[in-house]
Amino acid sequence: MSVPVTRERLRAALDRLPRVTLADLPTPLHDCPRFSEAVGNGVRVLVKRDDLTGLAFGGNKTRKFEFALGDAKAQGATAVVTGAASQSNHARQAAAATARLGMKCVLVNRHDHRSQMGIQGNLLLDYVLGAEVRLVKNGNQQGVKEQVAEELRKQGEVPYIIGGRARALGTAAYVGCLLEILDQLDALDATTDFICTASGHGTHAGLALGVKALGLPIRVQGYTPSRGDEQQRKEGVAGTGNEAAETLEIVTRLEAAAVESTDAYVGENYGIVTQAGLDAVQLLARTEGILLDPVYTGKAVSGVIDRIQKGEIPAGATVVYVHTGGTPALFAYAPELVAHGDYSQQIVSGPETV
Ligand SMILES: *Cc1c(COP(=O)(O)O)cnc(C)c1O
Repeated sequence: MSVPVTRERLRAALDRLPRVTLADLPTPLHDCPRFSEAVGNGVRVLVKRDDLTGLAFGGNKTRKFEFALGDAKAQGATAVVTGAASQSNHARQAAAATARLGMKCVLVNRHDHRSQMGIQGNLLLDYVLGAEVRLVKNGNQQGVKEQVAEELRKQGEVPYIIGGRARALGTAAYVGCLLEILDQLDALDATTDFICTASGHGTHAGLALGVKALGLPIRVQGYTPSRGDEQQRKEGVAGTGNEAAETLEIVTRLEAAAVESTDAYVGENYGIVTQAGLDAVQLLARTEGILLDPVYTGKAVSGVIDRIQKGEIPAGATVVYVHTGGTPALFAYAPELVAHGDYSQQIVSGPETV
């Protein structure tokens, strides 16, 4: 049993890393009494508003990029190359962050089902924010990123491909988010039993690493947006957390077996809506005025709701849900939302003017 480190020690470890300012921190921690009441079973749900990081519709990548692009700048980079799905929140926030830092941005996104439907949501914002967008229709996306980096070098730019090191740094950023949550709970004279989040790797891993380092009795639950092998996923989260631990030079290590991660709420697969996810989007919107997204956070919150209603998150518990953003995707999923919510347009005539 290792001796828990202190919040001050973690804060000092974070302060040693190169960093740029992109986010308005701390993001708010909002109590959600009307949502908690609607879900039922006597669980208090608070939402950590990382959808409000303040950079071009916000989201968790803003916090992560403070460190990743701090590292890029420290290496003298002038251009960033990254990309994922066509509706990537990561790509949109990279476009915004580089605009703010005066860097060039080339996005290598997938030409997937959503981009074939047109330029909307995050993809639209990528263009508005001035990124150069390439859509890969087949072949190796990573290979295209490397080709782009080579082209940029020939133009005299110093490219930074967002990858492994950025992942460790972004994970460390979520240790910082945990510290904010703890300070905000103190101010409310509250504690939490659960921290829940939509989970790729880094956000979940950073929160879990911070909890373990501090020796806190909080269960950190990740809800992934894509299907996959459970063991591999848990090892991925633990491995990412441990890269961050090395970067922060702390002795704490995560073990895959102790990672709580589920894909039970993904439905068919990544980027395909679920009815429960769309219900969750509408419920939080209609009880608290907080918007979720259909790809990550709607599905994650549908999982939190289900576990509260089944008693797996027990009555009397407190949950902090970390809202990772993603809301611009709502617009790209308008057809699904309109069909789900029965948003028929009521066309009416006004009284005759006299
Ligand atoms: C990228 C993203 C995640 C996953 O973040 P990780 O740091 O990879 O865990 C979750 N939610 C939203 C909305 C995202 O855009």
